[in-house]
Amino acid sequence: MQLSEGGLEITVETPRDGASEGSGDGVFFNPTMELNRDITVAVLRAYQQREPRVSTYLDAMAASGIRGVRAAAEGYNVTCCDIDRDSAELARENLAHNDLDGEVIQRNVNSLLHEQMFDVVDLDPFGTPIPFADAAFATTRNLVCVTATDTAPLCGAHLNSGKRKYSAIPQNTEYHPEMGLRTLISALVRTAARYDTAAVPICSHVSRHYARTYLELDHRATSADRLLDQLGFVHHCEDCLSRDHEDGLYPQSAPERCPVCDSNRMLTAGPIWLGPVADSEFTKSVREQLSAAMGKQQLAERLLSTVATELDTPTHYDQHRLCKQWGVPANSMDDFLSDLREAGYEASQAHYSGTAFKTEATVAEIRDAAAPEADI
Ligand SMILES: [Zn+2]
Repeated sequence: MQLSEGGLEITVETPRDGASEGSGDGVFFNPTMELNRDITVAVLRAYQQREPRVSTYLDAMAASGIRGVRAAAEGYNVTCCDIDRDSAELARENLAHNDLDGEVIQRNVNSLLHEQMFDVVDLDPFGTPIPFADAAFATTRNLVCVTATDTAPLCGAHLNSGKRKYSAIPQNTEYHPEMGLRTLISALVRTAARYDTAAVPICSHVSRHYARTYLELDHRATSADRLLDQLGFVHHCEDCLSRDHEDGLYPQSAPERCPVCDSNRMLTAGPIWLGPVADSEFTKSVREQLSAAMGKQQLAERLLSTVATELDTPTHYDQHRLCKQWGVPANSMDDFLSDLREAGYEASQAHYSGTAFKTEATVAEIRDAAAPEADI
C-alpha cells in the first residue's frame, strides 16, 4: 500500500486481517502514529535550531523506514536499522523512491548502538522501549526520542508487567495517562543515570495508544545526580481523590490512612518522575515548526499548545470525576478554570484528556472555588 505523509511517498504494509498489530507477517506500519511522526519532524527542526551541529539520526526500528525518510527530508544524515530483511529492503526502497540519501542496516540495533554513535536516536518499538534503552543512553550524543505503546503496564492496569519492565510500582488512578508517562520517564532517567548521563525530558505527549517523550542528554554525572532528585512517590486516596507526593528513591512515609478523609484505600506509586515532562519554551518552538504539509498540523498545534502551558504538578485532576464525586453537573472547563484562578490558584488544562486539568489547589480547595452549584 502506498501513502503520502509529510509530502513524501511511502510504501507500507499494514497488518493482515486477523493479525494483531506488529505480530503478523509483513512490515509493520501504524497509521495512527502520523501525529506522533509530524511532531517528531517538528522536534527535529526545532532541535537543529537549538543545537546546530546535530546531524546524525538513527531510526532504530525502521520497519517501512517512514521516520527515517521523514528525517532525511529534513536534511538529517539518516541511518535506518531493522533486524528484519524485508523491512530493511522496504526502507531502502522508500529512501530511493523519494530521492533521499540514507544508510540502511539490517542488524540487531543494540549491537549497532554499541559500535556507532548518533546525535539523535529514535526508539519507536511495538510495546516497551526498555530492551533498547541501555544501548541508546550509553552512546547517543544529544537526543533520545522514545515511544512506548504498552500503556496498560505503564499506568498500573497490568501491575506486574509494569513492575517488571519499569522497576517501579505504577498505580491505576484517574490520571492514568500521566502515571504512564511518568513511569516511563522514571525508568529512562534511571537507565541514563547508569551511564553518568542526565536524560532531561524536553517535550512529551500521551495519547490513548502510546506515550512519547524526547530526552536531551547531558553527559555529566552531577547532572544525572540532580535529575534523580526529581524522582519520587505519589500517595493517592481512592476515596476522596486527594494526593500528595514526596521526593526520593524510596518512600519515607507511605500513609496507611488518608490524612484528609481517613480512608484506608491509599495507593502509593513510584518511583515516578515528578519533574516537568516538557520544557515550555522548547515545546513552543516545536509548535512553530509544524507546517501545512503535515496531515495532523492542527491537531499537533492544539496538543503542543496545551503541553507548553501545562502546570508542572506531578498529577492532574479530572473535572468530570470530581463533579461526579461531588454529585454536581460538570460545567465548562473554561468556567471551571477561571473560577479556580479567581480564587487565587494557578490552574491550566492538561493534554491528557479534554477534562484533565492541573492546579496546586487541594481537592477541598478546588471544590470551594470551582464546584458548580447542584441543580435544586
Ligand atoms: Zn481521602
